[in-house]
Amino acid sequence: MRAQRMTSLRQPCLENIDLAESLEACSGCGRGSMIKLRYNGLLLCKRCFISFFERRVRRTIGEHRFVEPGDRIVVALSGGKDSVTVLYLLDKLNRLHGNNIELVAISIDQGIRAWTR
Ligand SMILES: [Zn+2]
Repeated sequence: MRAQRMTSLRQPCLENIDLAESLEACSGCGRGSMIKLRYNGLLLCKRCFISFFERRVRRTIGEHRFVEPGDRIVVALSGGKDSVTVLYLLDKLNRLHGNNIELVAISIDQGIRAWTR
């Protein structure tokens, strides 16, 4: 059940992001933007996008109670950007908010030869 929820939450984010075509002002700070979120029209610079993304992840985790204080979370690292980002953000949020979460990273051999070379 949890895996289905997380999958459905990921797709709208990926489908609704465009690189900004101009140097229009960032909706957060007024500096030059680099990305446009189609679903809400926000133009964001790199710093504001990272802040927006991290707040959204934190809010989603809280709303769906994906993580509770004291949990032990095992992150399966494939070496790709998705799993590394999950581990990075969970560690960052844990340090910032002191949720006393134990993070365990494991590496998985996916058995796909072309990806392991
Ligand atoms: Zn900005």
